[in-house]
Amino acid sequence: MQKRLLGLSFSLFLLFGVFACTQAPQQPSPAAETSSAPGLVDDHFTYKEVSPGVWQIDDQGLSNIYLVTGTTKALLIDSGQGKGNLLKTVREITALPVSTVITHGHPDHACGRFQFELIYGSAKDIELMDFFCTAPNQPTINPVKTGSHFDLGDRTIEVLEQPGHTAGSIVLLDKANKMTFTGDNNNILVWLYLGHSKPLKTYQDSLKRMNTYINKNEINIIYPGHDGPNQPGLIADQIACIDAILNQQCTGEPYTNELTPYSGQLCNSQYAPACQSAQIVFDPKNLWEKP
Ligand SMILES: [Zn+2]
Repeated sequence: MQKRLLGLSFSLFLLFGVFACTQAPQQPSPAAETSSAPGLVDDHFTYKEVSPGVWQIDDQGLSNIYLVTGTTKALLIDSGQGKGNLLKTVREITALPVSTVITHGHPDHACGRFQFELIYGSAKDIELMDFFCTAPNQPTINPVKTGSHFDLGDRTIEVLEQPGHTAGSIVLLDKANKMTFTGDNNNILVWLYLGHSKPLKTYQDSLKRMNTYINKNEINIIYPGHDGPNQPGLIADQIACIDAILNQQCTGEPYTNELTPYSGQLCNSQYAPACQSAQIVFDPKNLWEKP
């Protein structure tokens, strides 16, 4: 979820305010890989090759989906909101077997997954996905965690857990090709004020682990879930911006968005120069992990 959430209904996002982790998981059911699912819009997506073998698929400005192709398999990173015929678009790009991994459980990233058979994601966001994604025949999520990887033949994509924006947020890392795919973890403006976001300190700890990996492996580009691409220096800016918030050097300005019922505070370089390129929306009551 980010500020450019133009295509989803207001009522859907009001659900952010009432979601509690008490929803019973839906029963797993098979989902066929079919391009003729009823109600899906053909030619909904546009796409471009942003790096050799890496395709950015635009869900009508709502979010970025990525398709990474190897010599033997392809990996779809996120599935969009579920309005367009994503399988048709994928098949225009590649005939390889496709697995799908979901970066986190928000509807603009997770709700198109019913078009695919083999789905991966963090177990910690399964309830969130089941809550937001109500299309029938949702496929079972195969859990991944830090250390899980996808072998695409000539390229390997690694998983790194990043609790913060949601409990089950993950990023995908292509070490050999020095790139990362980050869902909503490393947008220029990140929401940490949602009712199901983790404490800000938890998110900062996630970013520190990621920054160590990024620097060690000289990752040089971030492909985020909205807008972008971003420079890897953004992560250090995010960490510094959160330091300013936690040290009470940045109270920022009130922030609301019509798509959620929450209110938070926006900290950016206007209020804390250390933020530089980063903007963080936080809940002053959810800064620290509870003892
Ligand atoms: Zn999100």
